Amino acid sequence: MIVGGGFAGVTAARELSARGRRAVLVEARDRLGGRTYTKDHDGHPMEFGGTWVHPLQPHVWSEIDRYDAETETFPVPEGLRQAVVCDGRVVDLSDEDAARALEAFAEFCAPATTMFPEPFSEMLGPDPDGLTDRSLREQLDAFKAEPELRDWVEGMCCAIAFGPLEQSGATEAFRIYALSGHSAAQTLASLSATKLVKGTRELISSIAEQATLADIRLNSPVRRVVQTDGGVRVELESGEAVSAPTALIALPMNVLNSVEFEPGLSEIKRTASADRHAGAGMKCFVRVKGDIGNVSIVAPEAQPINWLVTYAHGPESSWLIAFAANPKKLELAAFDDVQSMQTALQSFLPGVEVESVVGWDWANDPLALGTWCIYRPGQLTQVLPDLRTTEGRLFFAGSDSARTWRGFIDGAIESGYRSARDIDNYLTS
Ligand SMILES: Cc1cc2nc3c(=O)[nH]c(=O)nc-3n(C[C@H](O)[C@H](O)[C@H](O)COP(=O)(O)OP(=O)(O)OC[C@H]3O[C@@H](n4cnc5c(N)ncnc54)[C@H](O)[C@@H]3O)c2cc1C
Repeated sequence: MIVGGGFAGVTAARELSARGRRAVLVEARDRLGGRTYTKDHDGHPMEFGGTWVHPLQPHVWSEIDRYDAETETFPVPEGLRQAVVCDGRVVDLSDEDAARALEAFAEFCAPATTMFPEPFSEMLGPDPDGLTDRSLREQLDAFKAEPELRDWVEGMCCAIAFGPLEQSGATEAFRIYALSGHSAAQTLASLSATKLVKGTRELISSIAEQATLADIRLNSPVRRVVQTDGGVRVELESGEAVSAPTALIALPMNVLNSVEFEPGLSEIKRTASADRHAGAGMKCFVRVKGDIGNVSIVAPEAQPINWLVTYAHGPESSWLIAFAANPKKLELAAFDDVQSMQTALQSFLPGVEVESVVGWDWANDPLALGTWCIYRPGQLTQVLPDLRTTEGRLFFAGSDSARTWRGFIDGAIESGYRSARDIDNYLTS
């Protein structure tokens, strides 16, 4: 039995099939993919959720190879205008400036060398300064650099956290920097350089197609999970119940408490779900009038948008992707509030006229209650590894508790491999 049809749950279903195990997968939505969501709009396959992948992310990259999914570089490097908003004005960055910005980011992430010496092993190095309890905001306040470089580094932190910086752990930036080979350039590339041409939906469909022994049921929200002497009973909102020897809970950390568990989950899991991780930003696609060219503009937290990048452009109109780490600063009356978005974009593209805004409101989506997983200060040591610790016949998977690329598609896939293996071993023993 698998609860949740994101990359973690679907990968586990395929891996169990490969091991000759049958599973029922129940997914609340009318589609697979969870926090990845490719939606066709205005002739473009838009990624409303997870988008970027990278060869340094071994699990997702092996899936890309396995299914021969085509990738492309995005943002398009040719003619890319790079800039940072500093003191309320846009400052263009030459290639040399961009290189200096990367150096500044490497300096900011210097503690990663001692804290995450071997990031793929999950070993945490010494932390004499108590950085695991420090927020990105506190760490940035102590960071000195020229104003443009400092604001660029802060913009990068906003892009990593995608939540308010005072609520996001400083170690999250260090961890991603370490996973990217302790390289600022590779950190940037891991976060935003390569995407799937046909979208994440192609990849998850390929994985699901090979889950040949799985019975995948969409539109099947789970209400309650009861462990009995001989197995697990999963009760759906519809009143139907499915019983199995084990269940894999592949739900986002933030929604664990929306399902009733009997017996209750560990206190750490319940507290983590109640506190939530800090990822609660807003990613949206914004159509503007005319050709605004190929731009990538980073901005510090004081700005309502923290990264603005061209998705497509033409003479009549252009599509931009806007990332807001703290949507409260955007003051949108609704997700598609064109007027407020237009006001917010003036510091980036003076005079720009917004025509429409589309996307998905993950933070208010009851099946996600957040974006990608960014731990709050302290959660790294307090929450992991309990989040993925088996409880009786319940196993746990998901990007939010992955070993390495936590918060990424890669982490979800990695957790799916691991949990399927663990379940198979458990059922064999
Ligand atoms: C805006 C945004 C941008 C992102 N950008 C990137 C990126 O560029 N690169 C990258 O690698 N990652 C990115 N991520 C993160 C990545 O998408 C996620 O970490 C990953 O997809 C999570 O997979 P998962 O299977 O662990 O969880 P999910 O995808 O959340 O899957 C969990 C599933 O459980 C279902 N569910 C919830 N409650 C119930 C219930 N009661 N009953 C049944 N089913 C239920 C949900 O509908 C969902 O399908 C982004 C995420 C967001 C939101």
